[in-house]
Formats: sequence, structure tokens, C-alpha cells
Amino acid sequence: MNDKAIIFNKNAEKVAFDKGHRQKINFNISQYDRAVVNGKQRYDKLEIAKQRAANIKHKTLAQLDKYLVEFETNFTQNGGKVLWARHAEEACAQIVKLLKEENIKKVVKSKSMTTEEIKLNDQLEMNGIQSLETDLGEFIVQLAGEKPYHIVTPAMHKSRQDVADLYHQKFQIDPQSTPEQITAYTRSLLRDEFQQAGAGITGANFLLADIGGIALTENEGNGLMSMAFPKIHIVIAGIEKILPSVDDLNLFWPLLATHGTGQHMTVYNSIVTAARHQSDSSTQMVVVLLDNGRSKLLEKSRQRSALSCIRCGACLNVCPVYKNIGGYTYDTTYTGPIGSVITPHMQGMKENKHLSFASSLCGACTEVCPVKIPLHELLLLNRAQAVSEGWTLPSERFVMKNATRVLKSRKLVDFAGSSTKNLVLKYFFASQWGDKRTLPKFAKKSFSQLWRERNE
Ligand code: SF4
Repeated sequence: MNDKAIIFNKNAEKVAFDKGHRQKINFNISQYDRAVVNGKQRYDKLEIAKQRAANIKHKTLAQLDKYLVEFETNFTQNGGKVLWARHAEEACAQIVKLLKEENIKKVVKSKSMTTEEIKLNDQLEMNGIQSLETDLGEFIVQLAGEKPYHIVTPAMHKSRQDVADLYHQKFQIDPQSTPEQITAYTRSLLRDEFQQAGAGITGANFLLADIGGIALTENEGNGLMSMAFPKIHIVIAGIEKILPSVDDLNLFWPLLATHGTGQHMTVYNSIVTAARHQSDSSTQMVVVLLDNGRSKLLEKSRQRSALSCIRCGACLNVCPVYKNIGGYTYDTTYTGPIGSVITPHMQGMKENKHLSFASSLCGACTEVCPVKIPLHELLLLNRAQAVSEGWTLPSERFVMKNATRVLKSRKLVDFAGSSTKNLVLKYFFASQWGDKRTLPKFAKKSFSQLWRERNE
């Protein structure tokens, strides 16, 4: 087992038995579950909508090169600028260079997992540029010095009281403050920042090829202000975010809202095609298109459907593993089932293969996914890839080889008595089974032996 896998297992065990954590997650996910039931009522035929979305994504991924060039051409014609980044370092370097050229010392950011993926805040800080998160959940985790816990709900692991205590500690406000008071306080704090920042950095939920624009969806309006107030708007988006047409939003926006938060529609939905004032050369809009391992995944015809993900977070919320071990245990930007599927391709199979094994394969993630990604099947494909690339331990190979030999032969299975079998189980599997549950015991006689005796 590599170091990451060892740490993962240790933390998973610790968090799974943390009752306080379980209570908070169960409470927050139960709120989400209730909302989603309501949100889905807007659909007469949800399955058809999901299938249509999956088909559009499938078609788009098959011609990604064409749509990306179409996006670049149209966006450039609109007056915007496109930068291409092969990896995280390149993306950060380009953004830092741009900000330095403009002598910008402060940026406001709206929620974007892609900026988390490239660790943009760290790079900005290292270059003396202050980066302020303006999404409430992101603001809370930044204040606490933490990373987002969940791809849609960054502060899901915090209770109301945790947040009130944090604000009391940082801003000396009343520890009994209500969520409404905390939100109002944050709003007043951030208003000036939007006006003072030299640049606004956002993600994009979708890139629209036919009109050369980005689509951004959010509930707080901070994204709108990050785009509108500063003179420079930088968008960072993965290359898989492309949709062929602005008309596709009719389908994708409600699907994302319903599965992400249980809303019929998210509150603020913006389509932006160029800088605010094209006549004013001091305003700019730049889109950084990020690869960072995505084209490697695109090469794999069976696994590429993972790139259809619209980051709604629904698969995390239904996953029994995620609910038990929590977001931080993954130690990855993208967590839960989709994170376990894509991270090994984006950051290395050798170091991250353990994630593909962190699944009960119950299929709840596949069932709930609005773009019909067969997540649990992709986890199995990852496992197969890890084995075929030789990333298993010699001890694992030894056990699997001999277990296969024995289990294929009835004679060999019945050759050893139950006490020997129990010893084998104890010796080879007890540590994996863990000390929180009792190792099962073999019966004295196998089913096959009992059957033969009864039907003698
Ligand atoms: S894999 Fe599907 S369910 Fe999971 S975040 Fe992506 S779109 Fe949502």
C-alpha cells in the first residue's frame, strides 16, 4: 500500500466512528434529500431529460477538438481572449503573469472547483496577490483555513454553531448569531472588496461553443459581482465544460439545479460573452482552458464518459462511503464517486488507485447521475486498469492467484476443514476486515458437503 492509501485508510476509520461528524453530515444531506424530491417534481419524464443530456455530452466529447476551436473563434471575435493550459502549473503561471502585468494586488473569487484543482489561491498568495473567496461556503472554509469539503457545499461539515463560533473568533460577533445575521455580516464585509479588487476570477459551469460565451450559475450573486465590478474577469474552466449551443442550457441548467441543490432553477444564471466595455481597453475577459489530465481520460473510449460530469454533487450525497468517511478523507479536489473515478486519471493511477476501491459498488451514484455516467462500472474499470498496469502489491497478487486456484476447484475448497479455512481468513484478511467488526467464520461443513449428504 502506498503512503496515500495508508493515510486514507487511517482517516477513513477515524471519521467513520466520529459521531459528531456523522450527525452534521446526516443532517445536512437530509435537508438536501428533501429539497431534491421537491425539485424533481418539475419533471414529467426525468429519465428522458437525463438521457438527452447524456447524449449531448457523448456527442460533444466525441468532437471536443471541433467545439473547443469553435468556442475560441467565437469568444475571440466577441472581444475576449483564450489561454490554453496543459496543466495546473501552466494555468497558474498564466494567471499570475496577467495579474502582475496589470499590477493587481487583490482579486475576488467566486466558487470554482477548477481553481481548487490548480491550487490557484496558494500560487496567488506566493506571488503577493490577495485572493478573497466570495461564495459564503467558500468564505467560511477560507476563514477556517480549510479546503472545500464538498464540490457543491464547501462547508457541509460545519453546523450552524460551528460557523457562529468561527465568526465570533474571527470577527468578535455574537456567538449566538443566526445564519441570517452571519450572511448579512458577510455581505456587508464583501461589498467593498468587490469594488476594490483589480480582477474577478470565476469558473464556468458551461462553455458555449456557438456563441463564444460562458454560463455561470449561482445562488448568491457573488459570481455576478466578481464578473461585473473588477475591470478584469478571468475564467478558468476544464476543456470538458463545452456545450455545443446556448440552447442546450434549457436542458442542462434545470438538471444541474435539481440535482445540485433541489431547486427548480438556481437563482442567478448568467451568460457572458465578452468584456464589459469593449470600447474601454482596460476591461478584459480572459478564459483559461485547462487540460490537466482530461485529454488522457478522453483517450479511453470506455472511461471518457466521466468527462460528462456537470459537478452537481448528487453522487456524493447518495454515496454510503462518502457519508461515512467524509470529504476530507479523500484528500483530493473532487471527492466521492466522481472524484474516485477521475482522480486516478488526472493525478496518477499508482498513487490514487485506492480511491477506486473505496466503494460498495451499490450503484446509487450511477442511478442518481443526471448525465447517466455509469460511475460504479467506471470504478471497476479503474480497478482493472490498476491491476493490468501492475499497481498491486506482491502479497495481493499472491493471495489472488492462490484464491483463484482454490475457489475454482470444489475439491480444493473442501479439502481443508473449517478450522484451517478460518485460520487462512484470520491470517490473510483480518487486517483488511478491521477490528470494528467480527470476522465471519466458516461453517463446519460447506453447502456442497451438506447437499451431498442430504441427497446421498
Ligand atoms: S458524476 Fe454525475 S452525479 Fe456525480 S457530480 Fe458529476 S454529474 Fe453529478
